[in-house]
Amino acid sequence: MDIKTVGVIGAGQMGNGIAHVMALAGYDVTLNDLSQDALTAALAKIEKNMVRQVSRNLITEADMQAGLARISPALDVAALGTADLVIESATENEDIKNKIIEGIVPHLPEHTIITSNTSSISITRLAARTDRPEKFMGFHFMNPVPLMQLVELIRGIATDDETYQSCLAVVEKLGKTAASAEDFPAFIVNRILIPMINEACYTLYEGVGNVASIDNAMKLGANHPMGPLELADFIGLDTCLAIMNVLHDGLADTKYRPCPLLTKYVAAGWLGRKTGRGFYDYRGDVPVPTR
Ligand code: NAD
Repeated sequence: MDIKTVGVIGAGQMGNGIAHVMALAGYDVTLNDLSQDALTAALAKIEKNMVRQVSRNLITEADMQAGLARISPALDVAALGTADLVIESATENEDIKNKIIEGIVPHLPEHTIITSNTSSISITRLAARTDRPEKFMGFHFMNPVPLMQLVELIRGIATDDETYQSCLAVVEKLGKTAASAEDFPAFIVNRILIPMINEACYTLYEGVGNVASIDNAMKLGANHPMGPLELADFIGLDTCLAIMNVLHDGLADTKYRPCPLLTKYVAAGWLGRKTGRGFYDYRGDVPVPTR
């Protein structure tokens, strides 16, 4: 299917990045969130990120203006009714995603493909909430979306090949590379990455090292571009915890138990960069470790 219009649900850090790359690739984008404030903040973030791309000569001023003009914010999910492809990118919580999916299905034409940017939740289970499990799949971008090359494509048990090929064509039009993953908890990237981050939290919790020593050790000792705790703050500690819980519940193995310190940071609302504080405090000029 030739996809021309894309609906993005959730205008948070991932949703605004998805709208950004889709619009620059020529898709008409409808961007939905719960509040006008969330939509206004997302549009401002997209513009700021595109201005940065213009200043680095990655896109032209005309590309930016055309891209911005292709994004229509919408509070009402009925506006997604024109979409050929829907990408759900709301909070990583299965109940929230189920309600969103059930709420949009009645507005969508028969041909619309529905996807989720979930980091970990079963695509097969989400698909079962729709009237079209064969036209449902995982479309998992990496953060930050404009910079990261990979998109994981995850087939649910019922996903048909036409749906997969249509999504693959979109990934290629975005200039990104797809990795195919089977539908098991957290797929490929997060199955490996998030337990490593959780282990870094245990290393901190048990006092093996402090925030700075753990991050420096992994940057200098394992050649990682970011330390695991810095990366956790970047992803969002709520998202990291949600993924650990999906792994723990879905694979029923105690090796995936979420670190109590990670749980405590989330309970405090210290979710990382997006709330100004996590393993680092971002409220000053330079990030300061909180432990
Ligand atoms: P976020 O907290 O930045 O944004 C979530 C957005 O969803 C918020 O703006 C919220 O208002 C909105 N939302 C919640 N309920 C909604 C509803 N019913 N209708 C419309 N919008 C609603 O989170 P994020 O980091 O952008 O994550 C979004 C999704 O992307 C999650 O499924 C997450 O697992 C996935 N993901 C995250 C990362 C990452 O590094 N953060 C990477 C890949 C995928």
